[in-house]
Amino acid sequence: MTIQVAVIGAGGRMGATVCEAVEAAPGTELVARFDEGDDLGDLGGAQVAVDFTVPDVSPGNVARCVRQGVHVVVGTSGWGEEKLSALREQLAERPEVGVLIAPNFAIGAVLMMQFAQQAARFYESVEVVELHHPRKVDAPSGTAARTAEMIGQARAEAGLGEVPDATTDDPDGARGALVHGVPVHAVRLRGLVAHQEVLLGGEGEQLTIRHDSFDRVSFMPGVLTGIREVGAHPGVTVGLEHYLGI
Ligand code: NAD
Repeated sequence: MTIQVAVIGAGGRMGATVCEAVEAAPGTELVARFDEGDDLGDLGGAQVAVDFTVPDVSPGNVARCVRQGVHVVVGTSGWGEEKLSALREQLAERPEVGVLIAPNFAIGAVLMMQFAQQAARFYESVEVVELHHPRKVDAPSGTAARTAEMIGQARAEAGLGEVPDATTDDPDGARGALVHGVPVHAVRLRGLVAHQEVLLGGEGEQLTIRHDSFDRVSFMPGVLTGIREVGAHPGVTVGLEHYLGI
């Protein structure tokens, strides 16, 4: 059976790539493209909507889809706990609807996050460095925020305290943002797409876990998996790993 798909943010870098991937893939049909200023209407009769927009508008788009009984695959960053709990309340009214929120659809990035979580309890020090193209509007990236959260949880479970850091004087924020107790640094550089390093340090050793997306096509197999699977996963799922059996 063909899955009919609407793309919200279809004029953007990710949205346009998703439209091409949906058109080219077997078993999916692109039925609607929406961008800023368009009325979502009935989502073009789609069964699944894909949202790659901006953090401020994504929750409103997703709420609209949920009300219409349309499953949603979300790549837009900025889904913190407050937005997620509002979404869970909306889904209580439509328990058959599935929403996948994935900070990163690249398989290597999903693995990077898992490996970082696995390694976290063995290392006293950890820092996350995310590197992106300079047109990215939000920092840190959704991937970095989620990685920091996973590392923070693993450290807490292992009884690790704060990362060692003697800094007392940092007027310009050179030590980065502290996300779930993990310092996160954001680099914006022309020529880059989406990259991240997790640096783990212990006495006399360092483990570096790095992932690079050189092209937005790296996200498409994950997005297509999301489109195919979201209908079978009612409620909110955060992270593509839950669809991959990782
Ligand atoms: P972009 O700026 O190229 O595209 C965003 C698009 O959303 C634009 O076309 C814009 O006009 C549109 N838009 C804005 N407001 C809208 C509205 N109200 N309704 C419909 N469309 C609207 O950005 P991008 O590089 O494509 O990234 C989009 C989002 O996806 C960002 O949050 C980015 O961080 C995230 N992202 C996620 C992944 C992932 O794997 N999860 C990968 C890359 C980027």
